[in-house]
Amino acid sequence: MDTMPNTIAQIQTQLAGGSLTSAGLIRRIGQEFAADSQTDEALNAFLEIYDDAAELGAAADAERAAAAAQGSDALAALLRKKPLLGIPFAVKDNISVKGRRLTCASRILEGYVAPYSATVISRLCAAGAIPVGRCNQDEFAMGSSTEYSVYGPTRNPVNRAYVSGGSSGGSAAAVAANLAPFALGTETGGSVRLPASYCGVYGLKPSYGVLSRWGVVAFGSSLDQVGILGHTPSDIAAPLSVMCGADFYDDTSCDLPDAAQLSPLASAADSELAALNIAVPRQFIEAKGLDPEVGAVFESVQRWFTGKGARITVADVPILDASIACYYVIALSEAASNLSRFDGIRYGLRRDPGEGYDELYVRTRSEGFGPEVKRRIILGNYVLSEQFSGDCYKKAMSVRARMQREIQALYERHDMVLCPVCPTPAFKLGQKTEDPMAMYLSDMFTIFVNLSRTAALSVPAGKTSAGLPVGIQFAGAMFSEPRLLRIAEAWEREHPGCGQPVGR
Ligand code: GLN
Repeated sequence: MDTMPNTIAQIQTQLAGGSLTSAGLIRRIGQEFAADSQTDEALNAFLEIYDDAAELGAAADAERAAAAAQGSDALAALLRKKPLLGIPFAVKDNISVKGRRLTCASRILEGYVAPYSATVISRLCAAGAIPVGRCNQDEFAMGSSTEYSVYGPTRNPVNRAYVSGGSSGGSAAAVAANLAPFALGTETGGSVRLPASYCGVYGLKPSYGVLSRWGVVAFGSSLDQVGILGHTPSDIAAPLSVMCGADFYDDTSCDLPDAAQLSPLASAADSELAALNIAVPRQFIEAKGLDPEVGAVFESVQRWFTGKGARITVADVPILDASIACYYVIALSEAASNLSRFDGIRYGLRRDPGEGYDELYVRTRSEGFGPEVKRRIILGNYVLSEQFSGDCYKKAMSVRARMQREIQALYERHDMVLCPVCPTPAFKLGQKTEDPMAMYLSDMFTIFVNLSRTAALSVPAGKTSAGLPVGIQFAGAMFSEPRLLRIAEAWEREHPGCGQPVGR
């Protein structure tokens, strides 16, 4: 099969030139997905490609043709209103798309159909973009490898013996395998950046509130954010610019200042790079278990910045050592409470032995949830219990408040934080499934961003000798997304193709 275009800009150029149609592109995605599904080592990035997605593509093609027939002004006006006209995208299976199934990769949501679209989806659709299918994930977004899915793991397109990362592994693999130019994932503690790093694409975790959570299945509500995965910084900036901003349905949502800088995305000027004051947390460089090859990629990125004239200082931020403990107490408490709604009555699966409500709840939840989700519900309820909440939950809340203050203070002195996304590259399938602690530690460099409600971008920055991608985080204060993306664009221009699809 000849090469498919991969970035949004390439697709737009080909759509404008007439060498590609949206319907044709979506059909190709469907064919590649179907062919791959038949192989022994299928990626399993998508749980479903919507069978009428190509028809939506054809409608976008017709809209474009009708405007073009009226002249170039009419076409330009249409594209101003619908800047992503005909661009397909992939959706993690915990984000509602009206009329489509939604399972969170859990048995408990078997048969559930979303009654409305998440705000992020309706805004993308209003801009002309087309959701092509649902992506695999860890059950209820709990995990770091997409192995905790009732539908089986998603393999890493770079090397199929390895995990894709999680929990948005399906979204990352779909982009990395060029089955979508961009994808939506979600983050509670690193679930967009980690798979972006493992699969070699860009992945953004926006500041808390920038993207509405309306229609997104809650895990840890005070941490959850939708994130975006793409091949280039522009492939993230363009969808971000149409999705961001306050939403009536989500009281925690807010506008993104400087959103106008996102589209078109410019590169940070050399003078801006030279003026950067960058912090590297001591706690991360001295972390146990930092893979030397990840360390080498990290050093090369630091050299690139210092070569531009930026100043890098090692900052001591001891509170970072509490990230994992603090996160797991807060995230699991919120998860235990959020997941109590899956009771066998309102959503999806129902197992009713006919012995009353208690039996109905117990049977449905016992059969519906997988082992990792059950572990977390039990831990979450434990730390919330009256007896222990003072020792656990309340303490975690005060650690979090302190972390927020210290990270904010760090960003008063520095423009950004630079650090690896993960201490290691992708690991082999099955390597950590029996060891939850090892799995939890995958997020030790990402979680401070969620706890402090700030922003960070995973940048595909290099590879190990075995060819596994390594991502480095460009992290910044709340609402620094436009700036982080412009800095990443400067990186991209000097390292073109670092986030390109596998085998192209
Ligand atoms: N890996 C982390 C966890 O298992 C983060 C998950 C996420 O960001 N959704 O909780």
